[in-house]
Amino acid sequence: RAKRAGGGSHCFHEASMDAALQARQKLEVELWDALAGQQFQVFYQPQFDLAGGMLIGVEALMRWRHPERGFVPPGEFIPVAEEIGLMDTLGEWVLHRACEEVARWPGTVKLAVNVSPAQFSRGDMTKIVAAALARSGLSAQRLELEITESLLIRENAPVQAIMSRLKTLGISFALDDFGTGYSSLSYLRKFPIDTIKIDRSFILGVPRDREAVAIVQAVIAMAASLDMGVVAEGLETQEQIDALRQLGCQRGQGYGLGRPQPAEELLGLLPPVRIADRSPGFPGARER
Ligand code: C2E
Ligand code: MG
Ligand code: MG
Ligand code: MG
Repeated sequence: RAKRAGGGSHCFHEASMDAALQARQKLEVELWDALAGQQFQVFYQPQFDLAGGMLIGVEALMRWRHPERGFVPPGEFIPVAEEIGLMDTLGEWVLHRACEEVARWPGTVKLAVNVSPAQFSRGDMTKIVAAALARSGLSAQRLELEITESLLIRENAPVQAIMSRLKTLGISFALDDFGTGYSSLSYLRKFPIDTIKIDRSFILGVPRDREAVAIVQAVIAMAASLDMGVVAEGLETQEQIDALRQLGCQRGQGYGLGRPQPAEELLGLLPPVRIADRSPGFPGARER
């Protein structure tokens, strides 16, 4: 405060700090309104079996349709939602919504839902997941929760306990953004992880960067010998898709295979079903 007289640049700095703070406070208020105002939506990004080309799953990705700014990316609002304690409520909403939507689709694609560390610290995760499964009728075997290394590097014991309780429901776990966090490989044994998602940053260099290829190859081999599934994230080009298929990667996801999209659009990718297979509530149900 003492340096007030110091000149314009200091004042400018304070003014921009004020602006940033105001923008941030505005965002906080708008986030609470957004939940009440039904501005959140779930998009689904397809995941394919790379060998056979079949659609085998979708990842639920939250979208915020802001009344003035349009779509606000999750990378911008999720960290704020976490800080203001809104993320557990939002996470519960996504889980319920996605389970309900996917349960109504034809076929048996898997549903992956991202879970933030904040949701785990509430302690009643098992109840929340069990309720979402019960209410939607989605079978637990079709639900995969995506966690990140940041959760695993917290105190081990409580996280381990919550994860094992969740496992007894029949769900599975995928480790998201693998290779970008600070966890050690021993965590793969310590926690009940079923699938590894290779982060996009490693996929970027495939097939030209020999080191990127070597890392991806090693992760695929490791997953296989640990009896885990493996998903490549961020497949954008045909070259990357072909390379990952050749490397024996089981599942693939990325703009090159399909963008995150609203349920109505994704329904077009689902296998045709006999009329008898359709549940009455299936939104895409129509005469053919
Ligand atoms: P994530 O879980 O790693 O999700 C993948 C992100 O990569 C998504 O970004 C997706 O749109 C994007 N992506 C997919 N394929 C490609 C590609 O080929 N190229 C590029 N450049 N990007 C690709 P999105 O939807 O913006 O989400 C960002 C992150 O926000 C997610 O990363 C996840 O950590 C978080 N997030 C999104 N929805 C939820 C949610 O419902 N709950 C929680 N806890 N986190 C969420
Ligand atoms: Mg994810
Ligand atoms: Mg990811
Ligand atoms: Mg990511």
